[in-house]
Amino acid sequence: MMNKTCKHGKVSTEADFAYCPDCGELIENQWFLSRCACCGIKLKSVIRNGEIVPAEKFCTNCGSRRHVIEQLDKINFINVNFAVMVKTVVVNAAKDVTQSWTTCNCRPKLLQEFR
Ligand SMILES: [Zn+2]
Ligand SMILES: [Zn+2]
Repeated sequence: MMNKTCKHGKVSTEADFAYCPDCGELIENQWFLSRCACCGIKLKSVIRNGEIVPAEKFCTNCGSRRHVIEQLDKINFINVNFAVMVKTVVVNAAKDVTQSWTTCNCRPKLLQEFR
């Protein structure tokens, strides 16, 4: 389950996976970059309103407004200038979560809290 209050700020960006020392969630460092959908060059990416978008409105190479988001398997020193990192909580204990939820009689309240 997502911990909305924890930003996982202490999780190292060096490792692909790490446990957050603040909330104990397993965090995956995912890297994304945007590319021009027209000419395919890498665009510097930023996170705006929780979405990965190019920093510039137009492609600096061909002027296109369209872009595609690409997830990177590995970050390198070239891509790091374009990419953004998203710290994602890994939910690999899905089975355990379901089990504890079915035995929990406060479930409706929980659902409300997490919308
Ligand atoms: Zn955390
Ligand atoms: Zn372009």
